[in-house]
Amino acid sequence: MVEKMLPFKKNDTVRITIDAMSSEGMGIGRYEGVAIFVPLTAIGDEIEAKIVKLQKNFAFGIISKFIYESKDRVPVDCPYFNRCGGCVYRHIDPENENKIKEERVKDCLERIGGFTLGEGGIEFEGIEGGSRYNYRNKAQIPLGIDKNNKLIMGYYAKHSHRIVDNKKCLLHPEIFNSIADVFRDWFEQFGDTVYNEETHKGVLRHLYLRMGEKTGDILFSLVINGDKVKNLDKLAGMLKLNIPNIKSFVLNINKEKTNVILGNKNRIVFGQEHIKDILCDRSFNISPLSFYQVNRKQAEKLYNKASEYADLKENETLLDLYCGAGTIGLSLIGNNNKLIGVEIIPDAIENAKKNAAENGIENTEFICGDAAKAAAVLNERGEKPDVIIVDPPRKGLDENLILTISEMAPKRVVYVSCDPATLGRDLKIFAANGYTPVKAKAFDLFPATSHVETVVLMTKK
Ligand code: SAH
Repeated sequence: MVEKMLPFKKNDTVRITIDAMSSEGMGIGRYEGVAIFVPLTAIGDEIEAKIVKLQKNFAFGIISKFIYESKDRVPVDCPYFNRCGGCVYRHIDPENENKIKEERVKDCLERIGGFTLGEGGIEFEGIEGGSRYNYRNKAQIPLGIDKNNKLIMGYYAKHSHRIVDNKKCLLHPEIFNSIADVFRDWFEQFGDTVYNEETHKGVLRHLYLRMGEKTGDILFSLVINGDKVKNLDKLAGMLKLNIPNIKSFVLNINKEKTNVILGNKNRIVFGQEHIKDILCDRSFNISPLSFYQVNRKQAEKLYNKASEYADLKENETLLDLYCGAGTIGLSLIGNNNKLIGVEIIPDAIENAKKNAAENGIENTEFICGDAAKAAAVLNERGEKPDVIIVDPPRKGLDENLILTISEMAPKRVVYVSCDPATLGRDLKIFAANGYTPVKAKAFDLFPATSHVETVVLMTKK
């Protein structure tokens, strides 16, 4: 029935020109007005697309033949690219990737937010792109077993839990690949059983790696379904011997039947639980469960822009909502300012308190809880922060939180967003409650993937 409404059937081949990109990094072309999403294409490609999946009023296709290859294309530098779900833009010139991401942010501000950019509207400061190599300071590597009982580890293929055995990820620092090699070595000689998602049996689930880029400190965490690992001492010994930068080895216990990678319990095998990094000239302790931006270089640029927009004056109070380990607030606060941070993960709040103390920042209060609820309590208590920064996860802000923020009547609100669509939606609600977006800039913290960050300054009308 579905098929009748569309001008093609499954397995048909149609000729299209790619003229846009989806938020997930798929090219979009149209056939008789119907959008067809085709992965691994570039704007300007003319292709014959084979229809592989029909939806109500659009379809998914794959490239069956090139008629003309876009000028935006570059040779792909990674042998896993078309199978691995990590990157989506390795076949596109970085300049053009920036353009795609910049257009996406602008489109969300204009179309979803309903704002104009430029003269009389938001001053849009463009996008700050970054290198697409070795930028991730965190890796979450799923473990599996192939048909020949060999260990496979790497990334999941797109929209699936099929593991692509990736021996050299270009997004990871080289040392992560070396650590994975040591783990493979241990597994082949002494290893325990590997977790199977379907049967919920087996012990070894994920490797979780984190590096403080400036300090070189590495956290090695092995996520397990159980309480013990066979020959754990051998693994600890091999890691110590081969990768001296590993400052902490933590077992993370996750016995749940879940897609969530980390469990709530950590057991230290050696070293400390947290690692340290330097960001915007301040030092930060980061625990395994605390959020920390994966691209330190680009995060610094983003935080510097947030600091410029916050424009904190002497004696002003800053409320940092969704503060994680306190990174944004603590990196821009001066000695005469007061900082209040709110975050839902207890370990991150513990980090934030310690981070304030170690950086000699005294006038701070960190609250563990839901941002919307905590803001309501602060509002009732009569807090009147001069500046509020919000940095929510992709789903964006609760409408209630936006109302509370506008009741607290700060002079400036800075919104750091990892999803342009929810950003557009939320800015519209802010605008209806007295806060106008005046400046915005996009930052690519995830080059070669589909993600993009945006920072926006709002002022009170
Ligand atoms: N500002 C920090 C963290 C940003 S990520 C940084 O730049 O490092 C978003 C943070 O929001 C995460 O730390 C997450 O744990 C936290 N979070 C998610 N839902 C929340 C909620 N309802 N209330 C408060 N914090 C929340």
